Amino acid sequence: MAEQSQTQGPRPIVPFLKLEPKPHLVGKRCGKCGAIYLSESRIACAKCMSRGPFSDVALSNQGKVHVFSVIHQSFPGIKTPYITAIIDLPEGVSVRANLIDFPAEKAEKDPHSLFDLPVEMVTEVVAKDREGHDVVRFCYRPKK
Ligand SMILES: [Zn+2]
Repeated sequence: MAEQSQTQGPRPIVPFLKLEPKPHLVGKRCGKCGAIYLSESRIACAKCMSRGPFSDVALSNQGKVHVFSVIHQSFPGIKTPYITAIIDLPEGVSVRANLIDFPAEKAEKDPHSLFDLPVEMVTEVVAKDREGHDVVRFCYRPKK
């Protein structure tokens, strides 16, 4: 059943975004030292140089804004300005994503209102692929 929904249902835009049972990011944990990485596969641990084994770990949907940038120019069809940010997750992993539901003008006028701001991950459909499946991306918004 889960396999069917993966081939028939919406598709995540990056392999480390899982949509079932609830949307979340998946990291790889080093079996030797416990370091966690955000990538689909890895040859060796950057912390202890061990070659694994690495296991999947579900990452928190909560985080804090580490740093951000307001984007004023982008590809044709992409509405600007928008905020792109590095989000620190409690597992010690950082992830780059867009920040929504926060005014870009406020971010520029008062940057300190954003640093360390608690945020939560949300997903949204951004496109359809060639087979007509919804393509889902993740982003963050201020925690409610
Ligand atoms: Zn390690």
